Amino acid sequence: MRNTNRLRPIFLTFEQWLPRWSLQHRLCCSKPVSVHSNEESRADKFKTQIATGPRFHYFVKGASINKQQPVITDDLIDTDKHAYLPEDSESGNSRTVCFETYGCQMNVNDTEIAWSILQKKGYQRTSDVAEADVVLLVTCSIREKAEQTIWNRLRQLTAMKKRRLKTRVPMKIGVLGCMAERLKSELLEREKLLDVLAGPDAYRDLPRLLSVAHGGQQASNVLLSLEETYADVMPVHHSPQGYSAFVSIMRGCDNMCSYCIVPFTRGRERSRPVSSILEEVHILSEQGVKEVTLLGQNVNSYRDTSEEQFCSSEPGQLSRGFRTVYRARPGGLRFADLLDRVSLIDPDMRIRFTSPHPKDFPDEVLQLIKERANICKQIHLPAQSGSSTVLQAMRRGYSREAYLELVDNIKRIIPGVSLSSDFISGFCGETEEDHLQTLSLIREVRYNVGFLFAYSMRKKTHAFHRLQDDVPAEVKQRRLEELICMFREEATKVNSALIGRTQLVLVEGESKRSAQDLCGRNDGNLKVIFPRQEVAGQPTDTHTSPINPGDYVLVKVHFHSAVAVSYDVFYHTESQQDFSLSIILYV
Ligand code: SAM
Ligand code: SF4
Repeated sequence: MRNTNRLRPIFLTFEQWLPRWSLQHRLCCSKPVSVHSNEESRADKFKTQIATGPRFHYFVKGASINKQQPVITDDLIDTDKHAYLPEDSESGNSRTVCFETYGCQMNVNDTEIAWSILQKKGYQRTSDVAEADVVLLVTCSIREKAEQTIWNRLRQLTAMKKRRLKTRVPMKIGVLGCMAERLKSELLEREKLLDVLAGPDAYRDLPRLLSVAHGGQQASNVLLSLEETYADVMPVHHSPQGYSAFVSIMRGCDNMCSYCIVPFTRGRERSRPVSSILEEVHILSEQGVKEVTLLGQNVNSYRDTSEEQFCSSEPGQLSRGFRTVYRARPGGLRFADLLDRVSLIDPDMRIRFTSPHPKDFPDEVLQLIKERANICKQIHLPAQSGSSTVLQAMRRGYSREAYLELVDNIKRIIPGVSLSSDFISGFCGETEEDHLQTLSLIREVRYNVGFLFAYSMRKKTHAFHRLQDDVPAEVKQRRLEELICMFREEATKVNSALIGRTQLVLVEGESKRSAQDLCGRNDGNLKVIFPRQEVAGQPTDTHTSPINPGDYVLVKVHFHSAVAVSYDVFYHTESQQDFSLSIILYV
């Protein structure tokens, strides 16, 4: 039963509540009341009233209140964050949402986080834009071309929105991620293409932003956070086969490379607590996921300081000859600790990580990669340039020599390691000689895979303010093509070394090339295409079965190109450990 005598102090004056409090106190008091003079007893009564009465914060709406206070009850405390909105205002009411994801794997993971948040609020997901009530573009700002793609798409979507029948729920269009952060008001005002804008740290606010948009207004939140890691949001993994998943372990970047917009769009570096990462990987393992890629803008700068006992005063170790543009911070659990724990969860689950920075590869990390069978022997080592002069202008914190020394160290500790890299052609001030140095670095390192880009000037960056974008577009393009040619040539040589060798392949599904073929990836992350067929569970087995996505198969190289490798399939295998055994038996 509700107590109708409850005091509502907001509507009472001091004089009004005083008698009520004194009455209540008397009724509750079990002590005999002593007889005093009138004045004394009045003063005592007043003191008692003050001592037992409500405190100042009781009159302040929403203040934190000590629950021991006699008449303060929960229904007087306003815990509703948005008291002015009806209770179910953030509900999706089964509206359909369609995500379109552009750019890097971080954006794939952001999509999963945003979807997880909306799904809990009752939204339904669709992959058909025509069916969607809400279309959300998860965007990339890294190069101008990436942004241009989004502008074009926004215009198409707006035309679609206008054509939509009046009898249907009006379509809402939102931009999430880096472009939302970088262009903010421009996106909202220019051409009025948008209903919702949410920066990379504002996805928790999406249900509210959408509810404002459904009410007919534009809504935006582009605040960056020093803490947000979405540690408690279990992303809904949406890979078509469901056998590989991305797990975000840190966000943001403190490096401030002179060409890069990421520190401005994704904010400061912060790491997700190790316990929540381990929990997510455990769940994925139970769901049958066979490959996890740990994600972050600088994934190997990981540093979890959430558990105080690990906060020593030791600064983190860098690769030899490397430095940071910021002061290395002490303490915390480092990438090696995390990798160690994650790889122990399920020995049959492959572990990869991207995108690392070359500065954070101390021997400890390399040794662990070598020793753990399920940590893939594949390292992405973005060089950006082969010229020390350009590297200095890029503020990368290493020279050509230090980078090559690191490559030697990696190859010595992890023989057969597969290396990949990022390069930028035509950065500010890059000469032909600098470019030749990059070509020679590619030849010297012999990467398996490369990601090559022409330099794209970004506002806000150090290069935008201080350097000249002085390499003409056609020169950037020509140099880019030369880098691509050199990469192809070297990758072909490196991959030829695989001919006749046995590789463990995690099957992804049907090859895009033909329904007769399947595709998967080897430990070095090379794409593998092989004929669909039935194979034995063990070399001695006579019984055969079809190969399914998520299976590991042992295959022998038959043919290769620079990007894809075709194999003959040997047989199914259960696990990474099996593979170590099989290698001893069959190669
Ligand atoms: N954190 C990683 C590192 O330290 O190398 C790279 C992550 S960054 C998001 C991905 C790649 O985009 C970079 O390695 C660089 O090659 C490329 N990139 C970044 N800014 C660029 C720009 N303004 N123009 C062209 N490419 C750029
Ligand atoms: Fe960009 Fe450099 Fe940070 Fe990589 S390390 S995200 S290139 S600023």
